[in-house]
Amino acid sequence: MKTLIDIKNLNKRYGDKNVVKNINLTVHAGQILGLVGPNGAGKTTCLQSLLGLIECEGTIDVMGFDPRKQRQQMLEEVTYISDVAVLPKWLSVNRALAYLQGVHSRFDIEKAREFLAKTNIDPKAKVKTLSKGMVTQLHLALILAIDAKVLVLDEPTLGLDILTRREFYTHLLEDFYSEDKCIIVTTHQIEEIEHILTDVAFIQNGSLVLAESAEEIRERFKLLSVTPEHLEHAQSLSPLYANKVMGLTTMLFDGVKREDIENLGNISSPSLADIFVGVMAKETC
Ligand code: ADP
Repeated sequence: MKTLIDIKNLNKRYGDKNVVKNINLTVHAGQILGLVGPNGAGKTTCLQSLLGLIECEGTIDVMGFDPRKQRQQMLEEVTYISDVAVLPKWLSVNRALAYLQGVHSRFDIEKAREFLAKTNIDPKAKVKTLSKGMVTQLHLALILAIDAKVLVLDEPTLGLDILTRREFYTHLLEDFYSEDKCIIVTTHQIEEIEHILTDVAFIQNGSLVLAESAEEIRERFKLLSVTPEHLEHAQSLSPLYANKVMGLTTMLFDGVKREDIENLGNISSPSLADIFVGVMAKETC
């Protein structure tokens, strides 16, 4: 697998606050990495460092380029939608397409038009007349029509309704993703994207607390609905958390063997959201 992004010992300070601490992360072609953490965890700061938008310490390699020194060359290969992305209100959809065609050699205007044809965005409309969801769709049309190897999305569906959010991720898989590209997407709502992720990195207080493939994570963690007579035994195996709802206790375990807990209740696979809650709770203890 080709390495597209390699980050070593990334650190970022604002004043006396260390907001990103010693982050090491490698992203290969074909990976869709979810950078997941609560608000203020350091997700945007990581992405801004990766894109060469802010000063930081550490080594960053994106497609062979150092984003701080070779930003222009790097941006031929990388596209980005920021969490505060805006398009000028006076711009019409058609002019936005024409503009990108003029400035980006890898922008495929026909691909963008095809994408927009699937939406109810009028190509003659101005940005100021579009709903928030439509602006995001337009943004996505512009970005996905660029043949880049790396796509960076910072909370891309913030403020959108559930249907538009689902559509967004469907388009992402159908119209952009291929095995030779990678996507990094940040979110604090992992349940929305877990079905598309190949890899997950949990970040808390500026540090990575878990970074593994989605498959490895699902193998490693187990959710147990504990039968009442086995509560004490299950508790002695140090679950990451125990949750009691309507008399039924569910416990999340990290790394225990199936045979050690299978007689204590029903085992199921936790969602990434369950694991996120468990790992975050453990780290704050
Ligand atoms: P996230 O994207 O996970 O919500 P951020 O990366 O935006 O988190 O922020 C991480 C921390 O860095 C927060 O505590 C935030 O207040 C702080 N921070 C971000 N940008 C700045 C800045 N320009 N100046 C000072 N502190 C900042």
